[in-house]
Amino acid sequence: MRYAVFGNPIAHSKSPQIHAAFAAEFGLPGFQYDKLLAPLDGFGTAVREFVAAGGAGCNVTVPFKEEAFRLAEVLSARARAAGAVNTLMVQADGSLFGDNTDGAGLVADLLRHVPLQGKRLLLLGAGGAARGALLPLLAEQPALLLIANRTVARARALSEDVVQPWLAATGLPAELLPVHGVATFDFLIGGVPLEVTGGASPVRALGKRGVQFDVVINATSASLGGEAIPMAPDAFAADAVAYDMMYGKDETTFLAQARAAGVATRVDGLGMLVGQAAEAFTLWTGHRPDVAPVLASLRAAL
Ligand code: NDP
Repeated sequence: MRYAVFGNPIAHSKSPQIHAAFAAEFGLPGFQYDKLLAPLDGFGTAVREFVAAGGAGCNVTVPFKEEAFRLAEVLSARARAAGAVNTLMVQADGSLFGDNTDGAGLVADLLRHVPLQGKRLLLLGAGGAARGALLPLLAEQPALLLIANRTVARARALSEDVVQPWLAATGLPAELLPVHGVATFDFLIGGVPLEVTGGASPVRALGKRGVQFDVVINATSASLGGEAIPMAPDAFAADAVAYDMMYGKDETTFLAQARAAGVATRVDGLGMLVGQAAEAFTLWTGHRPDVAPVLASLRAAL
C-alpha cells in the first residue's frame, strides 16, 4: 500500500520515519510512505496523479491543508470544524475522504500528562492549529475553555464557527456545559474585559481578575520568532501544565516563559506530531501504533 506526505517545502518532514516505525511494529512489509513535494499551484493535480498510480492515502502539510479540505469529497466532523484536512484516504468507491488528525494528536499527547475533564483550559492562538484542536479538546469536557488571541476577531470566529455549535449540539444539561469565552492577551495581564459566551455560571468562573488555568496550550506561532506571550505568571494554576505546539531541539520561548513562572510540567509539540501520525495510520490500516518508542527515538535525534 502506498502512502505519502505532500507539502512545500517537504524535505524536513519526519513523517516517513514515523510511519515506517509504525508499519514495522505491525509487520506490514507492503507499507510504503514517501515525502512528495507538490508545486504551490499544483497540489490537486499531484494528489490525483498519486491516487491514479495506486496511492491509498496521504498526509498533507503546510501550505496545502485548506486546499486538501476543498479537494476531499467526504469530510469527517473534525475536519469540517477545522476547515482543514491533514489526512486523505481513498475509499472503496474511489472517493476521497478527508480527516484532520492534528487535534486528536494533541489531545492524545496531553492525556499522557494530564486528564482534561473538568480542567480549566487556556488556548492561546486562533489560527489553523487552534481551530483544529477545538473539537477534540471539547470532547474531553473541560470545565472552562478560554480562547485568547492577539486578534480577538479570529478568536470570536472560532467560538462562533466551532464552540457554540458544539455546545448547542451536545444536549448536556446547562450546568455541565463548559464555560467558554474569548479574549485578547490583555486579559491575561490585567483583567481587561473578555467575552463570555457559554456555560452555567460564566460570571463567577471567568468574569473577574485572577482566573487561573490548569492547562495552557500555545497554538500561536509566537515561539517561532522568539516572542513571549503577554501573560501574568499567576495565570498558571498550581500544578498547571504548559503545552507548546511548536517543538525543537532547544526549549521554546513559551516553555521557557512557563518555566520562569514555576510551571513544572512543560511539554512541546513533538508528541502531537507523532500523535497525529498515529491517528492517520490507524485510519488507513486499522492498527493503532504505540507512539512512545517512536517519540523517544525522534526526541533523541532532534
Ligand atoms: P497560523 O498562521 O494559522 O496561526 C498563527 C497564530 O499565531 C494566530 O493566532 C496568530 O495571531 C498568532 N501569532 C503569530 N505571531 C504571533 C506573535 N508574535 N504573538 C502572538 N501571537 C502570534 O498558524 P498555525 O495555527 O498553523 O500554527 C500555529 C503553531 O502550531 C505553529 O508554531 C506550528 O508550528 C504549530 N503546529 C504544530 C503541529 C504539531 O504537530 N506539533 C501541527 C500544526 C501546527 P493573529 O490571529 O493575531 O495573527
